Amino acid sequence: AAESVNRNLRNTILQLFFLFFSQEDKAAQSLLNKLIRNNLVNNTNQVEVLQKDPNSPLYSVKSFEELRLKPQLLQGVYGMGFNRPSKIQETALPMMLAEPPQNLIAQSQSGTGKTAAFVLAMLSHVDPNNRYPQCLCVSPTYELALQTGKVIEQMGKHYPEVRLVYAIRGNKLQRGSKLQEQIVIGTPGTMLDWCSKFKFIDPKKIKVFVLDEADVMIATQGHQDQSIRIQRMLPKNCQMLLFSATFEETVWNFAQRIVPDPNIIKLKREEETLDTIKQYYVLCNSKEEKFQALCNIYGAITIAQAMIFCHVNKATISYLALWELSREGHQVALLSGEMQVEQRAAVIERFRDGKEKVLVTTNVCARGIDVEQVSVVINFDLPVDKDGNPDNETYLHRIGRTGRFGKRGLAINMVDSKMSMNILNRIQEHFNKKIEKLDTDDLDEIE
Ligand code: ADP
Repeated sequence: AAESVNRNLRNTILQLFFLFFSQEDKAAQSLLNKLIRNNLVNNTNQVEVLQKDPNSPLYSVKSFEELRLKPQLLQGVYGMGFNRPSKIQETALPMMLAEPPQNLIAQSQSGTGKTAAFVLAMLSHVDPNNRYPQCLCVSPTYELALQTGKVIEQMGKHYPEVRLVYAIRGNKLQRGSKLQEQIVIGTPGTMLDWCSKFKFIDPKKIKVFVLDEADVMIATQGHQDQSIRIQRMLPKNCQMLLFSATFEETVWNFAQRIVPDPNIIKLKREEETLDTIKQYYVLCNSKEEKFQALCNIYGAITIAQAMIFCHVNKATISYLALWELSREGHQVALLSGEMQVEQRAAVIERFRDGKEKVLVTTNVCARGIDVEQVSVVINFDLPVDKDGNPDNETYLHRIGRTGRFGKRGLAINMVDSKMSMNILNRIQEHFNKKIEKLDTDDLDEIE
């Protein structure tokens, strides 16, 4: 019996551990995406719209002028270099700016203009003459809240009467004080305390409530309840807006508890395909041979930028570091799990700018990163899930290209055991696309 208790305990601890790291990973991934992205992602899909009232006309705008924004805000929008609304903004903005305000649940991948949209809605709805909070925006982490805050500051640059405050742990206010800032942005726990326990905010005066990154939010224990408790304190006519990059069942259930009578907008992710990719594999007998093959390949394709994926493993990293030394004059950038998100973003940005030609990365930090111009991807280790099965999704994401924007690319997989050959075969079967054998002593064929 004692053994079974022990086993249960161990399982619980393992589960908690997993939960902790997966949620940290989600927030970190999302932050990383924000830090490295400075323009909209390409998306050729149509938005799907589900209106609360299907008979009401659906407005969509092709220009910011049509929205009749305050001149200060229009100036802010153009100052940020935006020429026209993004795909999701075309429909979301008229809904959010309508009178009376409408509620909205919107889902689209990161980089499609959600943040800019709700920031514009918040800035449009505040009355700067009233010196009390009118918009609340909750984010999953302090860092993410800060990123949204920066957008508010940029867009509101010519509207200095509107002020912003962060409801985050560590931001201590005098007991009994009342906030004068019109926009409050923060994490759910502190936001809730400020509304209820400390009464720094009068929730009854809130006009717009934004819940950002709902999918990241629900991954954190407690955030869901706290958000719902904040929502319950708000007046009936408060506009509720919820945004998410993904839309699993759990997110959807949560969204419906937060947003009554919603309009719903969805934009599907652009499909990735292997059609424009030439895939090869290299057969090696050991890690040393993989390493040698890598040097040969690199010698043959020096012009291109390459990304090399390997497992998190000290030995692999030191091999690759050694390789870096052997390549005099060639800068190799390294991205590893131990780095802070900001450090990772800096590395990716340097690579993006072409300052380094090769980016070596471990699996953990590479998910969700799009480095579009990379034409050569090398799987030094094949992607496998935690049970050792092929991770097809990751494989596709690493080397796949999106629809019509896809440039031609080259993927090279390193195989060094029966097991990895088996994984390669299963990946090949899954995608039903031939992965050809490459002889690294004779690399003419890939040019
Ligand atoms: P999301 O919240 O969906 O991740 P963001 O609002 O952060 O998307 O927008 C992604 C990037 O695109 C940001 O760098 C932002 O400044 C930029 N952006 C947003 N809207 C527009 C637009 N209408 N025109 C040009 N760039 C835009």
